[in-house]
Order: sequence, then C-alpha cells, then structure tokens
Amino acid sequence: MNAMILEEPKEPLVLKTVSLPVPLPQQVLIKVIACGVCRTDLHIIDGELTQPKLPLIPGHEIVGIIVKIGNNVTALKQDDLVGVPWLGYTCGTCKYCLSERENLCDNAGFTGYTIDGGYAEYTVANEKYCFPLPSLYGNASGAPLLCAGLIGYRSYSMINKNAVNIGIYGFGAAAHILIQVANYQHKKIFAFTKDGDNEAQQFALRLGAVWAGDSSEVPPEKPDAAIIFAPVGSLVPKALTDIGKGGIVVCGGIHMSDIPSFPYKILWEEKSVRSVANLTRKDGEEFLKIASKVPVRAEIKTYQLHQANEALNDLRNGNIQGAAVLIMS
Ligand SMILES: [Zn+2]
Ligand SMILES: [Zn+2]
Repeated sequence: MNAMILEEPKEPLVLKTVSLPVPLPQQVLIKVIACGVCRTDLHIIDGELTQPKLPLIPGHEIVGIIVKIGNNVTALKQDDLVGVPWLGYTCGTCKYCLSERENLCDNAGFTGYTIDGGYAEYTVANEKYCFPLPSLYGNASGAPLLCAGLIGYRSYSMINKNAVNIGIYGFGAAAHILIQVANYQHKKIFAFTKDGDNEAQQFALRLGAVWAGDSSEVPPEKPDAAIIFAPVGSLVPKALTDIGKGGIVVCGGIHMSDIPSFPYKILWEEKSVRSVANLTRKDGEEFLKIASKVPVRAEIKTYQLHQANEALNDLRNGNIQGAAVLIMS
C-alpha cells in the first residue's frame, strides 16, 4: 500500500510503498477513505511532540471501511464504516482507567503518534477504539469530526452548563465544528482570530458567531467562558481578562507556546484555567450522537495522499478555512 511516512522529525513526509498491515486478534484492517490533517500532526512532524514512533505513518482522523477482522474481534464486522481517533489504546488497569479518565491513561497508545495512523491506503486499529460512524460521515467531511470535533466537544463540555456567551480563540477546524453544536444549544459565540485575519472572522460570522474580531480586541460583552484552540500562550491572560467572574479558560491544544506571567487579579473572582488532554471513548460516543443530530457539516479542503506535505504547509501557514483532509483514491 502507499503511505506517507515520517522518517525524521522536521523533515517532509516521504511517499513509500509498504506492506499491508496484518490485524492482530483484537484489531481490524481498515481501507482508509479519508484522513484529516490536524495541528497535532504538525506538532509531531515539527518535533514539538518528542516521542513519536519512527518511522511513523501520521494521521488520527481516519474514516474507513473494515475489510478484515482479527480472530478475537466481536463488536465490528467486515464492511462496517468506522472512525479512528487519536486515542488508540488504553491499559484498563491504571488508576486513571479505573476512574473513568482513560484519556489520562499511563500506558495509552495514540494513533498517528505511537501507533501508525491514517496517512495511508490501509491501517489497523484496535476494535475498542473505533467508532461506528453514521453513513452521513462516510466521506472526507467526516474526518475532522474524529479529532477537531471531538477535542472541541470535550473542551466545550468542561464549561459550566449555564454559560451562554463563549469566547473561542483561534477559529480553525475545531472551532468551526464546535460553533455548530454551540449554536444548536443556543449559545452565543465570540470568535477571536489572529489580528487582522478578516477571512477567518468572516468565516466565523457566516457560521453564526455573534461577534468576530482580533484577539487583541475587547469583546462587546464579557464571555462567561473561553476556549483557546490557537497554540499561543499569551492568549491565556488575554482570555482571563476578557471573561466574567467565575469563568473558566479551557486550553484545547496539545501544545502551546509559553504562557507569560500575569497579575493575580485577572484570575481572582474564582476564575480558572485548565487544559484538555486527549479524549475518552465516552466523549466520542456523545459527540457523534449530537453531531448527527445538529447535523454538523465540516468545511474541508481536500488533498490526495501524496499531497500531505502541501496540506501540512497550508495548515502551518493558516491557508485553510475549516479543515484539511487527505483522500485516498
Ligand atoms: Zn490506563
Ligand atoms: Zn488531532
């Protein structure tokens, strides 16, 4: 099969022909239909996440069809449409797994990072970490739901349920999916983009944001909570300043530049800051249920598998509205 392979961090991916993976007893072999390109892939390829398996097939927003099942697979069968997310394995025995926090598992495996992912014509995945997908999402537009959608939803679920005004900092793949869920639940979204990024601001307004502006601007109303998707640490004190009393700032990314020091008074009045790491399978089930109810429609820019480096560069340079997705021919 053809695959795009990371041989060394900070080097472009290389198109190679490699042997078809053979599913282990708990695994399924999946013919990949599409695989999303996530900012986390950039952090891996650029060497900011330092523990990838090498060589590595990146990609953790996989939509595909099962073509073969391992001997011990019970829940899935051939021809099932599935999505494979970032969380690819958990041990089930550590204190985190035993307290319904498998996203923090000490022995977790991550698709497209410590396990080969979906920048390939085929991949294998553990059946327990595959989500059955509604047919609506059996194409390239389903791919961004598997990470951008899921992590966005997990970030959103950390916010107090009474919050109505929600600030979103960084309006890319995750935000454009999340806003559709938030609007469906009658929330008001304030979208903050890189200063002067009119295109992203228009995009946010078109998707129903009540306000869109530069990250340095003061919003017309105080958000009750904030979610930061941009990997920019200075947004943390900015968001803390913007939000109202008792609000939370949720950092949704896996990597961020350093957070500058800030005066205690902007954290005062019971504000808090937290990060979101990975996902649980429960998050995935909940999100996919609500996504098909809304229904969430991801806006995508598609690339062929061999154009993965181009897609990554477009993402790095902010040239993508919505999400980038590789499609397998
Ligand atoms: Zn565990
Ligand atoms: Zn991701």
